[in-house]
Amino acid sequence: MPTEPLLWPGVLGQPRVKRLLLSALQAGRIPHAYLFTGSEGVGKDAMALELARVLHCERGGEQACGECASCGRIAALQHPDVHLIVPLPVGKGEQSEDSPTARLTEHELRAIQEELRRKAENPYRRISIPRATIIKINSIREIRRETAMSTFDGRKRVFIIAQADRMGEEAANTLLKTLEEPPTDCLMILTTHRMDALLPTIRSRCQTIRFDPLTEEDLRLGLVDREGVEPAAASLVARLANGSYTKALELLEGGALDERKAVVMFVRHALGASPMQLSKDVDTLAEGRDRLRVERFLMLLQMWCRDALVLSHGGEIINVDQREDLERFVRKFPHADLSAVIADVEDAISLVRRNVYIKLVLYQLSVLLKRRMNV
Ligand SMILES: [Zn+2]
Repeated sequence: MPTEPLLWPGVLGQPRVKRLLLSALQAGRIPHAYLFTGSEGVGKDAMALELARVLHCERGGEQACGECASCGRIAALQHPDVHLIVPLPVGKGEQSEDSPTARLTEHELRAIQEELRRKAENPYRRISIPRATIIKINSIREIRRETAMSTFDGRKRVFIIAQADRMGEEAANTLLKTLEEPPTDCLMILTTHRMDALLPTIRSRCQTIRFDPLTEEDLRLGLVDREGVEPAAASLVARLANGSYTKALELLEGGALDERKAVVMFVRHALGASPMQLSKDVDTLAEGRDRLRVERFLMLLQMWCRDALVLSHGGEIINVDQREDLERFVRKFPHADLSAVIADVEDAISLVRRNVYIKLVLYQLSVLLKRRMNV
């Protein structure tokens, strides 16, 4: 039986959103402004770019071909009628009628190009341009200037305003005017994970589409198929990423998997005889008071314990590359109450989130760990 091609494969998951947009396309009822909301890293920008590709694809139809000149230009973020608007640094002596990049230095322009190149390569990446905190009024004014001219190929012009919540008051009011009298053949797509930071008047002029968090399976498949990550590592990162593909990519790049070594050492030292070694581990973890990092460490510890529990009952583990370590652990502590440890780690995570002193949480946990082993 021939299988239907996956709809918009550039966008992970989001079947409900895809159905919504597809039916709008089929009915010829694309509004003049969309507002894509939902948490970070779930594919709002990716979807906006995909929609732009579909609208501009030279072969037409509901699926962008990915091969024509137009698809290629959009993928490289270099299509004359598809604009991605992002926060930019403010140039020295910049006036609001200047073009958005007119007063920037060579160095700043290069940094922007590099970030846009990375975004084009993978639309799930976070754009981080130094000193770029706001969407400038200049960028919004540019929309007006652009729409005054005729389009390159007579199709809809698309303006994607990413992180739309970063518009300053002036920029927001200028955009509002454009939304009130929308230019013909023009589609604005605002994306944000902070919908409440947008002016209600702007929200009410857009058709809002809420994106869902990605499932662990969406994330896992994305990591394996697109980034070439090993399946076991992909499962682990998918679980840590909390529904966000952006987060998953950052975890990979930040070496989250290597942190598992620290997990094994922590367990070993907590159960060992040398308090010195344990206190070194705790110091290292608490360094910089990076609560997100400690939380990630605890989640890895929890998964490791879950694997030990699964292993003692004979099931599928996540840390497959650590099977030997886990087996040794299970043999050494046959009477360990692992379910209790998993609950203890859960408590520790919520304490870290509630701003409790990190070192205290970790020491308490080490004491509990020892007690639960029943050695
Ligand atoms: Zn195409």
